[in-house]
Amino acid sequence: MAHRNGKEERRFQRPRASKPSTLRESAEVSRIAADLLAWYDRNARVLPWRTPPGAGPADPYRVWLSEIMLQQTVVATVKPYFGRFTTLWPDVVTLAAAPREAVLAEWAGLGYYARARNLHACAGVVTRDHGGRFPDTVEGLLTLPGIGPYTAAAIAAIAFDRPVAAIDGNVERVMARLHAIKTPLPAAKPRIRAVADAAVPAERPGDFAQALMDLGATICAPKTPRCAECPLAGDCAGRLRGLAATLPRKTPKPPKPARTSAVYAHFRNDGAILIETRPDSGLLGGMIGLPGPDWTKHPPTPETIAAAAPGAADWQRAETEARHVFTHFSLTLGVLVATGPALQGRRYMAFEAARAAAPTVMRKAMEIARAGLRDGARITASAGVKKNTPPDEGGARWGRAAGPRQDFGKL
Ligand code: SF4
Repeated sequence: MAHRNGKEERRFQRPRASKPSTLRESAEVSRIAADLLAWYDRNARVLPWRTPPGAGPADPYRVWLSEIMLQQTVVATVKPYFGRFTTLWPDVVTLAAAPREAVLAEWAGLGYYARARNLHACAGVVTRDHGGRFPDTVEGLLTLPGIGPYTAAAIAAIAFDRPVAAIDGNVERVMARLHAIKTPLPAAKPRIRAVADAAVPAERPGDFAQALMDLGATICAPKTPRCAECPLAGDCAGRLRGLAATLPRKTPKPPKPARTSAVYAHFRNDGAILIETRPDSGLLGGMIGLPGPDWTKHPPTPETIAAAAPGAADWQRAETEARHVFTHFSLTLGVLVATGPALQGRRYMAFEAARAAAPTVMRKAMEIARAGLRDGARITASAGVKKNTPPDEGGARWGRAAGPRQDFGKL
């Protein structure tokens, strides 16, 4: 599978009584499954968490790990992470025994960090409560941390050959096209679920699930489906009606809201950078980061920014801001930089180690801060920032509360 489009549905829906109702429909479903499996036997992608077609179920640990990593992430990005994780922690028991900080650090850069926290928690539950063996049913898998309906179905099908439909964005697209479903998403989901459930064969359901994922990832592409190479072309209503490339239709999403804030990057004289561990709850929970005020809809006031400073220093604002887009909002962080002796009571880490362990947005801020340090003129020339003053006297970009100027030196 190449990409997970959107979050998993909240509730798992069991395969419905929407099985083919006529002999003709039943024969058609069987033919589609046979054609797809024959295509998969010749064209399956070779992936490190898979077994070859017809070789039987794969190791549940590797399937689970890959499925968690692949949520919202493309295969090419996941492969090196998967390799490192399985080298460091070859099974669920060793992963459970690893310090959580180490797991989070190895996860850095993959994004959606709640996945990493749940991954570690799930390994603990499987080790402690299930003797190191994953449950082999959708219902059992759904009781584990971080496993939602899609992931449970995918693991049940691929690792245990259970006849269940695992519907990610790729499968959704294939089904919408195959059945020419014109209702826009998300309203079309129940209908897609029904036809996908009905399509699962009794034989080789695990291979069938992976075949559908591969077809969606390599042939039934989002913008330009390669119908001439598709094993299902003869049965595809979307293709036959000339609708394929326009499906699935989607209800337009409202634009993402924006949030703004600032972070403080303090470099100790030896080059180490001040870091903090973010609270467990909330975005990037448990990951390391740079201190700063909350991320808010309205730009923080100079007073709010000043109040969040980790200590007194000659804070200068970098010219470049760190920008990052999360699932539900986009974020712009101003970067305040200073160097000097260690600030009292604060934790420092070697820059490269901190950079490697930090989530992407914090990594961007760290890089901006260090680039600014190498180019002091660029920092001090920026936006009218003066020594020991709030970061933006103009107030236009940060927002500005009425009141006296605050002095960073006194914090
Ligand atoms: S025929 Fe075309 S649109 Fe239909 S499933 Fe195959 S690639 Fe997708």
